[in-house]
Order: sequence, then structure tokens, then C-alpha cells
Amino acid sequence: MRIAVIADIHSNLEALQVVLERIHALNADEIVCLGDIVGYNANPNECVDIVRNEKILSVLGNHDACASGLEEPYRFNAIARMAVLWTREQLTEENRTFLRELPREKRVHDCFLFHGSIHDTNRYILSRSDAEASFQSLAGLPGALKLGFFGHTHVRTAFIDRQGVVSQEQSLDCSLSSAKRYLVNPGSVGQPRDGDPRASFLVYDRDDRMVQFFRLEYDIKRCQDRIIQAGLPSQLAERLEWGQ
Ligand code: ZN
Repeated sequence: MRIAVIADIHSNLEALQVVLERIHALNADEIVCLGDIVGYNANPNECVDIVRNEKILSVLGNHDACASGLEEPYRFNAIARMAVLWTREQLTEENRTFLRELPREKRVHDCFLFHGSIHDTNRYILSRSDAEASFQSLAGLPGALKLGFFGHTHVRTAFIDRQGVVSQEQSLDCSLSSAKRYLVNPGSVGQPRDGDPRASFLVYDRDDRMVQFFRLEYDIKRCQDRIIQAGLPSQLAERLEWGQ
């Protein structure tokens, strides 16, 4: 069985469509999303509609929480706040309710899904010490899970815990070892920040215990035009080009 893992779509319809097209071509059995379906870009309702129609199992991201009115964007910078408040105005009642009802974390098969860090949607896993704290939380969950997927940083990466020693890799090209635990970020579909502007996602093969990362080009220009037409800050359009 293969699970496609996507994160941080951020209302980028062009990127989401390209990613889903590839996931369908790969015949993945399930698609899960690690939160932040909306925010930053210009097509929030279209992206939420797709997630709902495709029955993609998603957890709540910090932008989803603010856009749906569950939280206020106190910790957001000025541009992110502008975009999330714009999104709040755009969302249909149905889509607002859908976002508000998303769980903050979720176990799916042998994996644990969350947005920022375990038990904290807003907190980033950036360093090995951040990862250590989430590995400890993972150990406290029922089921002795060894694999977690997270988003929020928009940078694809993998943290590996081998008996308390945590290392970080940019990629996972071999089978996952049963002697190790893993926290893996697929990167962002709709606003990558690792210097590569292409949409990012991964596929986890449960039978082979393999994680495979993907990068896909999409129509950035079209997404940028929509941002400008919507009256959103032009910096949001520019950053897509640089992957920052
Ligand atoms: Zn995000």
C-alpha cells in the first residue's frame, strides 16, 4: 500500500492540480495532507473543494486555524496576516466549517500526521533538538509508532532517531529501518522555501518501507497572476519564483 503525503498547499491551485495528477498516475492508495490547505495564495475555496472532493485526509495547519476563525494571526508577519484575513473573507461557510473541524493530529496506519510539532500546530521542527522533543512525544503516544510526517517549515527533510541519537538527512533513499524512528517533511506543494520553486511531495510505500520524494514544475506565472489580480501583496507572487 502506498500513501501520498502532501503539505502546505496554501491555496496554490496550479501546484495542487499538477501534484494530484502525478499522484493519480502513480496509483497511490491514499492521499493525506499535513495542513495549511489555505493562506498566502489566491485560490482557497478551489483548494479546499479539491481536498474535500478527493477525500484527502488532512490535519489542521496554523493558517487553516486563522483563516477559519479558530485562532487570530497574532504570530503572523504583516504579509501572512494580510493574506490570511483576505482568505477569511473569501471562504464559503461550508469550507470554513470543514477547516474548523480538521483534527490537529491523526494516526493513519503506522504513521502519525501533524502540522508543526507533535501537540503544537504552531511550533516548527527546524533543528535536531526540535526533532528530539517530537520524538519524545511520539514515544508517549499509544502504539509505539516509528514514523511521523510533518509540514509547516516548507522545507523537505528527514530526521532520524537511532536509539536516542538524532541525525538529519535531505533525502531517504533506502528502506526505513525497524531499528530507527523517522520524522519526515515532504516539503510544500504551494510555497516551497528550500530554494527550489517546484512543488514538493512524497510517497510512502508501506510494503517496501520506502519513502520517495518528488519535485514537479507547475505554472508559476498563472499562480502569480491570480495573486496580483486578487490584490494580495506582490511579494507573495515573487517568492514563488525563487522557492523562498
Ligand atoms: Zn505553511
